[in-house]
Amino acid sequence: MAQWALLISCPHPLLSVPLDSLPRRFVSSRHPERENLVATPMAQIIDGKAIAAEIRRDIAAEVAALSSAHNIVPGLAVVIVGSRKDSQTYVSMKRKACAEAGIRSVDVDLPEDTSQAALVAEVHRLNADPSVHGILVQLPLPKHINEEHILNEISIEKDVDGFHPLNIGKLAMKGRDPLFLPCTPKGCMELLSRSGITVKGKQAVVVGRSNIVGLPVSLLLLKADATVSIVHSRTPNPEAIVRQADIIIAAAGQAMMIKGDWIKPGAAVIDVGTNSIDDPTRKSGYRLVGDVDFAEASKVAGHLTPVPGGVGPMTVAMLLKNTVDGAKRGIVL
Ligand code: NAP
Repeated sequence: MAQWALLISCPHPLLSVPLDSLPRRFVSSRHPERENLVATPMAQIIDGKAIAAEIRRDIAAEVAALSSAHNIVPGLAVVIVGSRKDSQTYVSMKRKACAEAGIRSVDVDLPEDTSQAALVAEVHRLNADPSVHGILVQLPLPKHINEEHILNEISIEKDVDGFHPLNIGKLAMKGRDPLFLPCTPKGCMELLSRSGITVKGKQAVVVGRSNIVGLPVSLLLLKADATVSIVHSRTPNPEAIVRQADIIIAAAGQAMMIKGDWIKPGAAVIDVGTNSIDDPTRKSGYRLVGDVDFAEASKVAGHLTPVPGGVGPMTVAMLLKNTVDGAKRGIVL
């Protein structure tokens, strides 16, 4: 449910709304007659950074226990080909997160001109290495390498990104369980459950149908007994569909596309989108925004994730979790 903040006429246009401009249900019943009083519904902001930090602390404890009880140190191979700045940033973030959790990071840095055959050979070597429990190949790969081919070569037992077609296929089938769930979709579900949001029986709308976010998160919602609709770039009148949703997962990569009046009051909104937009007030000249218009949505939604600080940190936490789960799978208790 939305939390309601009562504010005395606030000068900031985003923080105050005149009482008479609000639908009746938005107005707090506590002081309806007082003039100068404005009521702003405030979504509960889901702090993905704090939730991810808690998960990472639990993972570190689990890693320490695995090591002392079974002499196993989970190992994650992070493979990067070439020197794209954004990929290098993501890779170093993942390696740092491994180090903090006590997971052994196996760093494989290959030059831009690495052949597809050489990369396949590297993946096979990692598949065969018993000290490696997870393999992550940072995407995108250079144009001369077929990404699908490389992802298919990763052993499904070490597919901690959850992108292998067999893992995705099992996710799509009733009664089958994939060995790993893709990290960002898994992170979205974790945010919902840790925020006390029931999925079963709810109307969920996913905006986006990509292999790495939209499609798998739709399948996870379906597995969790939601009634799921998927909106994509060819969907006419998407706002009418989004407006039906109790749960919205936005993963279109379109800056602030989802406006406040697209959102059913009280809905839970998980914003996966990460878009950079020009911002001359910032030293960098840009800032990150989601697919949801945060200022508008925070007045309507019941729960809302910020960008940054929402889904992003959960993706890394889920990668660590998948790696530890992979390491535990080999243990005979
Ligand atoms: P993607 O591969 O580009 O897919 C975007 C999807 O959105 C496509 O299915 C596309 O539809 C749909 N779409 C595009 N424009 C639309 C519109 N105007 N209305 C409705 N649907 C539209 O992107 P992605 O890899 O899934 O990523 C989506 C966003 O999430 C990006 O901003 C990305 O940076 C972010 N992301 C964040 C994390 C994280 O950890 N926070 C992780 C992964 C991705 P079609 O299929 O019809 O083209």
